[in-house]
Amino acid sequence: MQIPGHIDPVTTGTVPLRGGNRIDLVGLSRDAIGGVLIEAGLDAKAAKLRAKQIWHWMYHRGVTDFEAMTDIAKAMRPWLTDRFIIGRPTVREAQVSSDGTRKWLLAAADGQEYEMVFIPDADRGTLCVSSQVGCTLNCRFCHTGTMRLVRNLAAGEIVGQVMLARDELGEWPKGTMAGFGPDPEDEDDEEGGHYTADGRILTNIVMMGMGEPLYNFDEVKGALKIVMDGDGLALSRRRITLSTSGVVPMMARAGEEIGVNLAVSLHAVSKEIRDEIVPLNRKYGIDELLKACADYPGAGNSRRITFEYVMLKDKNDSDDDARELVRLIREYGLHAKVNLIPFNPWPGAIYECSSPERVKAFSNLIFKAGISAPIRTPRGRDIMAACGQLKSAATKPTRAELDRIAEEKQAALG
Ligand code: SAH
Ligand code: SF4
Repeated sequence: MQIPGHIDPVTTGTVPLRGGNRIDLVGLSRDAIGGVLIEAGLDAKAAKLRAKQIWHWMYHRGVTDFEAMTDIAKAMRPWLTDRFIIGRPTVREAQVSSDGTRKWLLAAADGQEYEMVFIPDADRGTLCVSSQVGCTLNCRFCHTGTMRLVRNLAAGEIVGQVMLARDELGEWPKGTMAGFGPDPEDEDDEEGGHYTADGRILTNIVMMGMGEPLYNFDEVKGALKIVMDGDGLALSRRRITLSTSGVVPMMARAGEEIGVNLAVSLHAVSKEIRDEIVPLNRKYGIDELLKACADYPGAGNSRRITFEYVMLKDKNDSDDDARELVRLIREYGLHAKVNLIPFNPWPGAIYECSSPERVKAFSNLIFKAGISAPIRTPRGRDIMAACGQLKSAATKPTRAELDRIAEEKQAALG
């Protein structure tokens, strides 16, 4: 298969950028960058202009060195370098699957590890981004769910994944800056003019890596606002999907304040089975969840909600389950699509994937009811990069340990 954007060789190694007391600007809003420049001594007008310039270099051009910011006065660049950095996560390990999927194990400044995955397709390139180190939830089919939650990722660590992916894919625009003439206030400005970017490699983002994004709402929102900003990474909200296991109280805010596509990890149509496999269901049940989907801002109009449904042998994959799924989608009047995900195994998992015939029959029943239900092709299984296989700690806990972690998490949910 011809893989767009397949870059060789894969770079590994570390980017020693986290410096002492210097402030990392990645993840700050434009105003917040202005704020730290004022705190460092610039007046309000200068801070605003410099924030705009720095933003453009950081997010549009991928520059990490203030010396490369040629429309900022030469004398000012060391001043910036002394006080600020434009950081990247450290790459601990980079792997490439036989199908072209790439996975990176990343480390934050405090050494915490998380994963990010790039999935190239003929017509798109999707980056699967993590929102937490571990997950507070404990879906029983998910490898990440066997980790304790270590911490939320900061906005800079979330947007940093997108920036690092662009570094690794060699995707930052080259040449002169788009829409930025030479700085009239700066006679040292060496560049100006326009460049033309040719086709994008990274076209879509899914918040489907490690963690539950709606349990880290503010940081995820801050990061996605930056990703969508027109003068920067400039990804349209239509190309971004946030996946939730069903944190009902945060769903409306996600629609109103972030406005990206919503995917909901439904995975079962009865209380009994969903309670077992997505234990968050004991807190927010199926009816509440589907009501929140019906109320999701924009749903029903142009925006379709995606239901994710992992196919587990003899658990949630019967014809009756498929019929009930159709009935529920109709009952709530949802404009929805169902993504059928063959279960991806991991060491210690207690489930098996449904047979290909069963998955096909399940899909056909839903299609026949006029609802799209494509079967997703697993990607990157050989490097443990497929849905639900991510886990940054390379331990294999015993069954008893897994049960204990699950109990602790359930108790913490209340
Ligand atoms: N925490 C969020 C987003 C991350 S998971 C959520 O749960 O929605 C991305 C998707 O992969 C979810 O639908 C999740 O349920 C699914 N998934 C988890 N483990 C899986 C596995 N072993 N095989 C297939 N899909 C899995
Ligand atoms: Fe957490 Fe999502 Fe995995 Fe559930 S499926 S444990 S919510 S990452």
